Amino acid sequence: MHPRNLYNQPPDFLALANSHPPLLPYIVQTANGPTIDFKSQDALRHLTQALLYKDFSLNVQLPVDRLCPPIPNRLNYILWIQDILDPFHSAPAIAVRGIDIGTGASCIYPLLGCRMSPSWKFIATEIDPLSFECASVNVASNELHSRIHLHKALHHEPILSPLLGSDTFDFTMCNPPFYSSREEIEKSTLEKEFSPSAVCTGADTEMITPGGESAFVRRMVTESLTYRTKCRWFTSMLGKLSSLTDVVNSLRENNVENYAITELVQGQTRRWAIGWSFGDERLPDSVSRISNQSLHGLMPPHNTIRQPLGSADGAVALQKLRQALSATEGIIATQERTDPDRVTIGLAATGNTWSRAARRKKLKAPSGDTSQRTTSPPVALMCQVTLSHELEFNWVRGRDRALFESFCNHISRKVASKPSS
Ligand code: SAH
Repeated sequence: MHPRNLYNQPPDFLALANSHPPLLPYIVQTANGPTIDFKSQDALRHLTQALLYKDFSLNVQLPVDRLCPPIPNRLNYILWIQDILDPFHSAPAIAVRGIDIGTGASCIYPLLGCRMSPSWKFIATEIDPLSFECASVNVASNELHSRIHLHKALHHEPILSPLLGSDTFDFTMCNPPFYSSREEIEKSTLEKEFSPSAVCTGADTEMITPGGESAFVRRMVTESLTYRTKCRWFTSMLGKLSSLTDVVNSLRENNVENYAITELVQGQTRRWAIGWSFGDERLPDSVSRISNQSLHGLMPPHNTIRQPLGSADGAVALQKLRQALSATEGIIATQERTDPDRVTIGLAATGNTWSRAARRKKLKAPSGDTSQRTTSPPVALMCQVTLSHELEFNWVRGRDRALFESFCNHISRKVASKPSS
């Protein structure tokens, strides 16, 4: 469960049912106290409605023959999107525009997203007429029509059709139809028959797509190649590990190395989410990677590099860091923050000025030669250096991985070096 997830502690089911009486008949007593019957579709629907009302002031209709979204899991995905958009929790809230592909009858992601992030706006697509109608009612009854625009998707359109227009977006999100056929659903239901997991109330139209979720998301990857600059981050949830492998392979085949993976865990259920970008924003490993050994081969390259400081004195290390930064020409410190146990410095560089080759070239250049440059060169690297018991570099922006790694090596060597006598 995401650390900011409200449901890290299970709810008080009895208090919840008292505040939403339709849930009361589904309360069951166990040795661990009151809970609800997770095998009952009605109980799950009332639980979702009760949580949305109590914790998010949302009034939501959920038709009996459409998917009932489990809130903790949906919240996990939204929280990860928040992390992707502002990985260092530093930016002031500016307008953020998202697209939810296949919003469902509940319209769950846009509703939750708008309640959690006051600056978010959505275009939500839906192909199933019944779900589309119900989603419209849910948007209207929560007075969110100025922030959530519903788009009726058509089979012959691209999945990412809202990107056909001139608008640009910050993210796309999607909980794709999961299965490839009715037979696959039946096989999976049979396998789960004796497991304690919750029942699934989805209709065939929302659960089945040709080739299953893997094909759906790979289609999104292919489409995103056309809309590269129209959206900062493309993302999707995935329910099967094999789909995650397929999508990572598809990204790698298309030379997309700027991607991120997270695990969404709720009780017994494990899902994954994947995001990819054609921009130069880089995410820290804490957002882009999970430390699950069995998934190691699927992870994106590291954007966080750590250098232990051993027994080095913190104050001396900080002094050396400052010296190294001020002695490296072309590095600009953009901001600094001091916390009780760490100092974080934001840095920008226009290129490699620290390598031996760069310094030699500079020495050879006639003094005062600015090569007729009238404007300063663009920033090629932005990173954050944090000094605590270790030195941590987080890549923030840039396209040149070798430049980032070379910078980390240069500063690490300077900070770890013994003082010259
Ligand atoms: N987002 C909701 C519903 C997910 S189920 C939730 O998380 O609970 C997947 C949804 O995608 C279904 O509602 C289905 O009707 C819709 N869908 C399937 N293909 C689509 C397409 N090409 N464009 C838009 N929606 C689609």
